[in-house]
Amino acid sequence: MLKIDQKCPQHEILVIGGGVIGMNIAFRLAKEGREVALIEPNDLGMGASYGNAGTISDYATIPVGTPNVLRNLPNLFLNRNSPLSVRYRTLPSLLPWLLEFTYQSLPAQAESNAERIGRLLSGASNMWQELSAELGASQHLHKRGCLYLYESEKAFAAAKYDERLRRENGVEVEAITAQEVLVHEPNLQSFEGGAHYFPNATSIDDPGAVMKIFAQNLAELGVTIYPTSAVSIDDSSEKNVKVFCKDQTLEASKVIIAAGAYSKPLAKSVGENVRLDTERGYHLEFDMDTPPVSRPVCSAKRGFYASPMRGRLRIAGTVELGGLSLPKVERRLKVLERGAREMFPELGEPSRSWFGFRPSMPDSVPVIRSSKRNKNVIMAFGHGHIGITLAPATAQIVSNIVSANH
Ligand SMILES: Cc1cc2nc3c(=O)[nH]c(=O)nc-3n(C[C@H](O)[C@H](O)[C@H](O)COP(=O)(O)OP(=O)(O)OC[C@H]3O[C@@H](n4cnc5c(N)ncnc54)[C@H](O)[C@@H]3O)c2cc1C
Repeated sequence: MLKIDQKCPQHEILVIGGGVIGMNIAFRLAKEGREVALIEPNDLGMGASYGNAGTISDYATIPVGTPNVLRNLPNLFLNRNSPLSVRYRTLPSLLPWLLEFTYQSLPAQAESNAERIGRLLSGASNMWQELSAELGASQHLHKRGCLYLYESEKAFAAAKYDERLRRENGVEVEAITAQEVLVHEPNLQSFEGGAHYFPNATSIDDPGAVMKIFAQNLAELGVTIYPTSAVSIDDSSEKNVKVFCKDQTLEASKVIIAAGAYSKPLAKSVGENVRLDTERGYHLEFDMDTPPVSRPVCSAKRGFYASPMRGRLRIAGTVELGGLSLPKVERRLKVLERGAREMFPELGEPSRSWFGFRPSMPDSVPVIRSSKRNKNVIMAFGHGHIGITLAPATAQIVSNIVSANH
């Protein structure tokens, strides 16, 4: 039960961060009968969890860092139109992440990371089906498959590596020709190369709407929301953990750090030096009644998904290394728009744009565990490109940790 103490409200569980990860954890624990509060300074679910491509990508076992990416890194960095860009003034602070990323891209590391990601991803689609039924959000989930286009013979041949890693990690994937792609999606332009088709992939047609449904469920379950920012954590007592916020102090038996790309200083305050940084991402939306594709289509060379959403097409992706404080770069949106027009020449003007922060680890494997110093502080962040996909699995792991530590 929530104890009312004027100076320091106390809770059983305190979740820091109201993105898909924090909300899914709060939802799961409240459903299990625990008393839960959540700290979030902005509207719930409006960070990366709003702006993504909406794929439940249980096929995404390939880490961002692989030998192929490592080989292409100079090209990717030097080409102004490439899907990867760097804000050079942030290089000094990025360097430790980049060095670790380089190491994690070596063959043995990449294979081991793919295996770890594959283990987390197995069952993600089924977990989302169950979760959406519980939330009352099933109408937003569609099992229509997903396509990954490799738009040259060379790129398609290089993707054999990805195909092998996917198969080895339990993913059902069909390697198909460019002509076969056009049978699935006749509005795409013809291209060279081929594609990977994931026939069982599921996607969400409106991530923002699903985040709102999450928020409604938390209200109905009686989860207390504190509209403030957590600044640091005092874990010196085994009994109760203190969270210092901007304007008040809160206490809880268990604290979950789920503040996405902003989790690093909070983890540091409990002695955890995690190599978390951000891969900034962008989206453009084009309003229309019927999007030109019927399932998410990823253009590997352009580094974005064209995702059909309710009443619009969302072009979402690309990676910009540049930290949390610099503003968005209009040129990156232009790169996205140019790529979208190459794929769909009939597009009109974009209706809106967005940019935000993926919480990214150099090995692409999220951090989901108790802190080493105090088992009552649990970390759940660093989901990179697959945080929507892994939200239910993460909530389940956190729930298991909470039960085991009780
Ligand atoms: C362009 C793009 C496309 C993507 N496509 C996909 C996709 O198709 N499929 C997929 O699975 N994933 C995708 N992702 C990744 C996915 O969106 C993220 O991994 C996921 O949303 C991360 O969720 P989160 O809850 O950790 O972070 P967020 O959604 O960013 O939430 C973190 C929350 O913490 C809050 N916060 C920050 N600091 C504090 C503090 N000090 N105190 C309290 N609260 C705080 C923030 O306000 C925010 O609401 C994509 C990401 C991008 C950018």
